[in-house]
Amino acid sequence: MTDTTTSAAAPGAAVFTTRSPATGEPLAEHPVDGPEAVARAVERGRAAQAGWAALPASRRRGHLLAWKKALATELDAVARSIAEETGKPAGDAALEVVLTLEHLAWAARHADRVLRRRRVGSGLFTVHQRASLVHRPLGVVGVIGPWNYPLYTPMGSVGYALAAGNAVVFKPSELTPGTGVLMARLFDSAVPEHAGLLGVVTGPASTGDALARSGVDKLAFTGSPGTARKVMAVCAETLTPFLAECGGKDAVIVTADADLDAAADAIVWGALSNAGQTCAGVERVYAVREVHAALCERVVERAGALRTGAGQEAAYGPMTLPGQVGIVERHVSGAVAEGARALLGGPESVRAPFVSPVVLAGVPEGAAAMTEETFGPVVAINEVADVDEAVERANASRYSLGAAVFCGGGRAGAAIAARLRAGAVSVNSVLGFAAVPALPFGGAQESGFGRIHGEEGLRAFTAVQSTTVQRFAPPIALTSFAVPAAMRDRAVRLARSLHRRR
Ligand code: NAD
Repeated sequence: MTDTTTSAAAPGAAVFTTRSPATGEPLAEHPVDGPEAVARAVERGRAAQAGWAALPASRRRGHLLAWKKALATELDAVARSIAEETGKPAGDAALEVVLTLEHLAWAARHADRVLRRRRVGSGLFTVHQRASLVHRPLGVVGVIGPWNYPLYTPMGSVGYALAAGNAVVFKPSELTPGTGVLMARLFDSAVPEHAGLLGVVTGPASTGDALARSGVDKLAFTGSPGTARKVMAVCAETLTPFLAECGGKDAVIVTADADLDAAADAIVWGALSNAGQTCAGVERVYAVREVHAALCERVVERAGALRTGAGQEAAYGPMTLPGQVGIVERHVSGAVAEGARALLGGPESVRAPFVSPVVLAGVPEGAAAMTEETFGPVVAINEVADVDEAVERANASRYSLGAAVFCGGGRAGAAIAARLRAGAVSVNSVLGFAAVPALPFGGAQESGFGRIHGEEGLRAFTAVQSTTVQRFAPPIALTSFAVPAAMRDRAVRLARSLHRRR
């Protein structure tokens, strides 16, 4: 137990215990926050938000950068909390903090430019109007997060919503509440004059449900599509806007002229890092016939050299969510039973809590391992006749989150990327897009909707207000009962002749 994850529960309040996924050892107790506690956090956020939104943009930026500095100063403690709660290796946890810092810095530095008032042109009949728009904060944003990247993933909503002038109430996953609590504690210590602007409520599904019902002005959800449906249904009752970042079944396409060593290296990392528990992790690979065997050989060689476990030498750690092991087992056994070849590992590799790498080939496209999110250290490498078939198969998924293309030329790779139905595509790398804060991130279909990160990610937590200021009396006053019929007719004639032209 560390002092970053000890219980914040009031004496006598209901609590739950987090446990190390690697050892099962208890880590800490946290309160089970119910509707009253959630309502208090929302109220507190609402009270703090008005002052936050009224700050000059430069002050808000300064405060967010102070928070970033606090997270960077406490990087080791934050990474330790992530590693303890998820089981991922310390190095991976530190990398997660680094990526988070990059995103927070970008949101803090770009919010004013993206959201401030800007002029737009007015039309022929509105030439007397000065037209502008501004993106205003929504108020209090609720954020419900997952456990696989307990700092980086929620920061895609939390940091951008705060930068846009909102308060946030964050409900971390019940597997990783300590990291969420620490995140908010560091905000309060770095920005004491706005303490309470970022509130954290802890607990299971019922706490998330209470947050969805709490009257927040938008709910940003990251998690599985099944839960997204439930939360969205609750939000629908009050027309609370909803953003869903859900799972993926990301495909990688490997062309005949690709650098196979680079492709294999990236595929192994994209599929196995974090024990495969990455929403935009590599789950399917489509390699053209000419290079399929050579690619498989390279992937098996690299993946076979990796060890899972709890120690420093482990490439990746345990399955964080115990229930996921059964899903991984079902996918691997099902694929093999349906005729897939297990090139490395197989059903016997799937043991709780550590699952050894599994590389499959020739997996029937209808097998669960190809159609459902596996979320484990498993990759399927299927052979295709050509790039057209690879694109067709990659797109034939209920998910569309990320994808990657390995190709001899960047321009040719980008042309293939443009044919993929995915929210983000990396050419000659995997997950490249997730590390660029200026790039929006999100998917479609079972992967959800809406975007976090980048300019769209800032605008996602605002409402646009359009304004016109009349500068002089209109030459053709159409919005008055006093307009003479002859003037209206002249306007109609003018519009007709103008719009009849091409
Ligand atoms: P999950 O759906 O089980 O839970 C997500 C969150 O929702 C948790 O905080 C949970 O407590 C809460 N929740 C559960 N039931 C609820 C309810 N009825 N009402 C309100 N809240 C409820 O998902 P998970 O297992 O924590 O996360 C893994 C999933 O998240 C995977 O599918 C993964 O692909 C996805 N994910 C997506 C992204 C992305 O950005 N697209 C990032 C990370 C993870």
